Amino acid sequence: MSSQRSEAIDMLFSKVDRDENLTLENAVELLNIENGSSDFYRLLAKAQELTYREYKNRGYVFVQIGLNSRPCPGNCRFCSMGLDNFVVEEETEKTETEVVEEAKRAAAQGIDALFLMTTADYDIEKFLEISRSVKAVLPEDVMLVANIGDFGEETARRLKEAGVTGVYHIVRLNEGIDTDLDPADRIRTLDAVRSAGLELIYCVEPIGPEHTYEQIAGEMLRAREYDVNIMACMKRVCVKGTPLYERGEITDLELTKIAAVTRLVTRPKTSMNVHEPKQITLLAGVNQLYAEIGINPRDCAVETGMNRGCSIADVKEMLRQVGYRTR
Ligand code: SF4
Repeated sequence: MSSQRSEAIDMLFSKVDRDENLTLENAVELLNIENGSSDFYRLLAKAQELTYREYKNRGYVFVQIGLNSRPCPGNCRFCSMGLDNFVVEEETEKTETEVVEEAKRAAAQGIDALFLMTTADYDIEKFLEISRSVKAVLPEDVMLVANIGDFGEETARRLKEAGVTGVYHIVRLNEGIDTDLDPADRIRTLDAVRSAGLELIYCVEPIGPEHTYEQIAGEMLRAREYDVNIMACMKRVCVKGTPLYERGEITDLELTKIAAVTRLVTRPKTSMNVHEPKQITLLAGVNQLYAEIGINPRDCAVETGMNRGCSIADVKEMLRQVGYRTR
């Protein structure tokens, strides 16, 4: 039985070698591999082989600045800033000058992309103004990425004019059930990003123990449908005081398997990320990590870099330890 299973997995690896797309059923079959089994390690090796072959030894460092913390109408049940469960230590908002100075400091340390993250109701005019100022201090080859609420085609065009090169946007697992956001609005935003010619950065998230492999694989395929070059997966972090706290977390081993499958199914052309940074996932085809400044939805501290989040130096060292070259 187990050798039959290994043969079936070999056939899926051969499909990958022939650059054929894996189906949803294929992805689910890979996700069903038992953690710690010999097939599990073969899966990791396959993902790693692809990364070494396609990305060489290039590691990428992305930095995210959380611009504000306030009760957010997205009301995501896992987030420290959800409207009904705001558990961050205080409401804050960085000034334009602060953001620009942080961007300059980050860029000086050699990064590949700078993300600006806001709550879903952040004023778009203010965001565009900050984006223009940040763009002016970033080296030409550092991506500027928006991680904001839903928007339409006109805003997508204006983001591009302001110097934004990419957008982090996703349909979350259980969107509309564990969030107050409409999956149809999320998809409209993905379409607006694509039609404006902005780079879409995608992620399967926030993965919890209750999500099925079909749901997880579905988001991998959605990313492929949008031709995503920069892909990620993220496990849900239990934030005390949020409604989903009791559901618990998947293990790092499980996340590592999901990362490897995501790498094989989505075939991102630039990089593969896992969030939050975990050294073990760097053996499963992951070559990109995030450092963080300001707030994030997994933390109650307004400066996550001093708490849960990693610094630029931290993630560079993690990548260096497994042989990746960063800027
Ligand atoms: S995850 Fe984002 S959209 Fe959802 S509540 Fe938190 S800040 Fe708002």
